[in-house]
Parts: sequence; C-alpha cells; structure tokens
Amino acid sequence: MEKIGFIGLGIMGKPMAKNLLKAGYSLIVYDIVPEAVADVVKAGAQKGTSCKDVASKSDVIITMLPNSPEVKEAVLGNNGVLDGAKKGTILVDMSSIAPLASQEISKKAAEKGVIMLDAPVSGGEPKAIEGTLAIMVGGPEDTFNKVKEILSKMGSSVTLVGDIGSGNTTKLANQIIVALNIAAMSEAMVLATKAGVDPEKVFNAIKGGLAGSSVLNAKMPLALAGNFKPGFRIVLHIKDLQNALDTAHGLGVPIPLTSVAMEMMQALKVDGHGGDDHGGLIQFYEKLAKIQVRK
Ligand code: NAD
Repeated sequence: MEKIGFIGLGIMGKPMAKNLLKAGYSLIVYDIVPEAVADVVKAGAQKGTSCKDVASKSDVIITMLPNSPEVKEAVLGNNGVLDGAKKGTILVDMSSIAPLASQEISKKAAEKGVIMLDAPVSGGEPKAIEGTLAIMVGGPEDTFNKVKEILSKMGSSVTLVGDIGSGNTTKLANQIIVALNIAAMSEAMVLATKAGVDPEKVFNAIKGGLAGSSVLNAKMPLALAGNFKPGFRIVLHIKDLQNALDTAHGLGVPIPLTSVAMEMMQALKVDGHGGDDHGGLIQFYEKLAKIQVRK
C-alpha cells in the first residue's frame, strides 16, 4: 500500500485522514495547528514536522486546506511539498480552491515531476466522518486510476470530471446550488412562520415533493433547532462564492443569483455570524422579518 502524506487536519481533513488509517494505510500528517496533528497521531498516524517533511516520506500527498493562498503556501512555499516530494509523487489537492489556482500549482508541480489532481469534496463534516463524501476530480485519467482506491475510502462517489481544474469548477457549481437552496429554504420558511404556519409541519409536508432536497433535509432540522454550529462556516462559503464570481466574470458569465447570496452572507459576517454554519443564512431573513423560525 502507498504511504500517504496528509496536510490540513481541520473539520474535514481530520476525519478523512482517520478513515484512511481505518482502511489500513500508513499516514504521515501535518497541520500548522499542533493539537490537530496530535489528535490524528493518537489515532495511529506518524507526525510530520513540515509540508516538506511529509512530502519527502510519501508516495501520495493529500492536501485539505482552506483556500488557494494556503494551498500555494503549503505546496509552493518555503519548506513546502515541492521542496520535499520525489519525482513521480502524486499530489491530490482536496481543498475547494479557484480552478485557475489548481492549474497554476499543477504546472509548477509538473516541473518537479509531481503530478497533481484537484479533488474537492461535497458532503460536509457528517459525510467526511462516514467516509461517504462526493469527490469530484480533475486531472490525467491514469493518475486518477492510481489513487481511486484511496479516494474511495473517503467518499462513496468518486468521479473524474475532466482535466486539472475541472474538479474545482464542478465544486463551484455545487456551491452555487447549495447556497441558493439554503437561501430559498430560508426565504420560504420565514414567510411560512410569519404567516402563522408551523415551519416543522411545512417541512414535513413538502420534503417528499419537488421542493425536497438534500439541502432541505440537512439544514431544516438545524434551523428548527436554532443550531448553527459549523459544519461548513459562512466565511468558507463566502470564499467559494468569491471564487465562483471571479471565475464566472473571467469567463464572461453573469451569475446574478450568486451575487445576491454572497451579499446575504457578507451581511451575516458583518453581524458577527461568519463562523456559523452556512445553514445560519436563515438568520439574515429572520432579522429582516423580525421573526424566528427556531422553536
Ligand atoms: P478548516 O479551516 O477546519 O481546516 C483547514 C486546516 O488547514 C486547519 O486545520 C488549518 O490549521 C490548516 N492549515 C491552514 N494553512 C496551512 C498550512 N499552510 N499548512 C498546513 N496546514 C494549514 O477547514 P475545513 O472545513 O476542513 O475545509 C477544508 C477545505 O474543504 C476548504 O477548502 C473547504 O471549503 C472545503 N470543504 C469544507 C466542507 C465543510 O463542511 N467544512 C465541506 C466541503 C468542502
């Protein structure tokens, strides 16, 4: 079995790394937060001291970091992955970053003989824990085939969608759909509540119909409980929508609904809710309508 280096042990990276350990892989791990490393080392991983150290001891390196600047720093920076990686190493970046950044990093990696895939995920912390993420991959097919088995230990669906950058383009599409679903759910449920109808009954009445969705099933029970513990933080969704807007504008594609969802999230961030789960977007509507959906 390949030796795997895992860099970035946050909300998502930690359970993903633990699932690889459970599957029997030998892991060396690193994060700038020492407590995160200690937790995964306790579960059986070897401790890495830097991105370079991890890379020098791995056949496959996985990164799960917040955004493009962090991935660039971890891969291209001083003491980074490319300072340590052997020729022929495979780098799988599972962070959600700008597709253009994936292409840029992959070019620099190729100069050192490192082949890169972009492989962002959908499903959030619960599916990261269960190992049932949806993984969308961009890059060469032969490289994809070499790591598919590893990815399948973290996700129940692993799909090659195209060349490098396509994984993150797919993820941007995913994030637009999720944000707009949460906004639609929030708008509708605040209206129903202020009209005097029990939002839980509305949810139960519509979830099996055309308005039903994975987003509704995941986020409505939390909204009813007023539970906005992340999960997926609003500031991270702002990051994804910014990447979507930049990418769309660069290509000449207006995305008006996304810009509205972005402004709602920006307002929540200013209001001190940037660290809430993105399901907390309902609070934007609750404040406008002066009513609470939570019981
Ligand atoms: P997180 O902030 O919890 O974790 C990121 C980790 O990266 C942190 O532990 C941080 O210390 C570490 N880090 C940052 N810079 C580093 C560096 N230079 N070197 C080493 N470690 C570094 O974020 P998360 O929620 O785990 O998300 C990770 C990625 O997955 C993001 O791109 C996010 O958009 C995406 N994602 C998250 C979710 C979710 O529900 N949380 C779902 C799907 C995709």
